[in-house]
Amino acid sequence: MGRISTTLPVLGGEMSDKRMIKIFDTTLRDGEQSPGGSMNHEEKMQMAQALVDLGVDVIEAGFPIASPDDFRAVKEISENFQGAEIAGLCRCNDQDIDRAWEALQHADAPRIHVFLATSAIHREFKLNMSTEEIIENAVEGVKRAKGYCDNVEFSTEDAVRTEMDFLCRVVEAVIEAGATTVNIPDTVGYATPAHMGDVIKELIDRVPNAGDAVLSVHCHNDLGLAVANSLAGVEAGAGQIECTINGIGERAGNCSLEEVVMAMRTRSDFYSCDTRINSQLLVPTSQLLTRITGLEVQRNKAIVGRNAFAHEAGIHQDGMLKEPTTYEIMRPEDVGFDKTDLVLGKHSGRAALADRARSLGFDLDDDQIRSLFKQFKILADNQKEITDADIAALIERHLASAES
Ligand SMILES: [Zn+2]
Repeated sequence: MGRISTTLPVLGGEMSDKRMIKIFDTTLRDGEQSPGGSMNHEEKMQMAQALVDLGVDVIEAGFPIASPDDFRAVKEISENFQGAEIAGLCRCNDQDIDRAWEALQHADAPRIHVFLATSAIHREFKLNMSTEEIIENAVEGVKRAKGYCDNVEFSTEDAVRTEMDFLCRVVEAVIEAGATTVNIPDTVGYATPAHMGDVIKELIDRVPNAGDAVLSVHCHNDLGLAVANSLAGVEAGAGQIECTINGIGERAGNCSLEEVVMAMRTRSDFYSCDTRINSQLLVPTSQLLTRITGLEVQRNKAIVGRNAFAHEAGIHQDGMLKEPTTYEIMRPEDVGFDKTDLVLGKHSGRAALADRARSLGFDLDDDQIRSLFKQFKILADNQKEITDADIAALIERHLASAES
């Protein structure tokens, strides 16, 4: 554990000796395929621009064979956006891989992302394939993709529920065939942090050529553990996190980009990792996705929720006014909020009221604040939220009655 410091980390800019973790954003693929998450073509282009500006390393732009719309999105994002690798998803067969390449071929930095399920449940009930057939198929798929482009990612779908011995064999075989990234998905959100860490650690320890590829994690949030599981994967040695803006995605969603990025940055003393993300664009990007999809984030959502930097309790507000690090581990400006929101309500104290009066242009002495505070509490008992206009009106009434 690191020392607790009142100095918040300086964000961005500085060269560091920290391990850089790749951020693979799948908002436009895993996110887009979730209920309520669909976007039209123009909206996908807007999101792609926002993701490039945000500094993600990889944009998974879609699943080209899935629909003409997906194909067009991957093709036009490949042709029009630089500054990030562009990935297209495909199942492990010739037609899918060929179609993905057709969409990706004009990208500056294309990545073909091939997946095949490896768990016994999927082998038996979905694919009807033996373990030998899975390995053979996976190797063929990677080789075909490799014929088109150097940058090939292979995903072992449902990896977390796959027998460890078999998972090691698949990972070794696809790296041998040329995969440069091997993704270990928790497709159904079944893992726990210690479990996820063990899977990654065991792969690094047991797969002889594991060092020749980047290991990646792709965690779903069915148990609310996607961010924690992704961090555990990174701690164990994974070099890429697959995630989405606001955590949208299949069912309960994916690992939330803003949370996992700010966890690594705020606790860099512990993780010694960082990303290329320009964190000041986290809130604007989150809000853009909400505007496009209509999927609101909950008010108390970490990092980007409306309450993430709001304080109402008097003791907290007093501390915040004296020294922000008493109750905040991040600066709101660093994630793209204007400032801390000291919400005035029935739990607020005199220090916050005095501060708000000053910022509204009223210069009140201690006696005035004391008597104003009584009236403020009466108002706060009757009104859930108190706006600046309410405060100004209260002060003006108070001053007028004091004069008369
Ligand atoms: Zn997924």
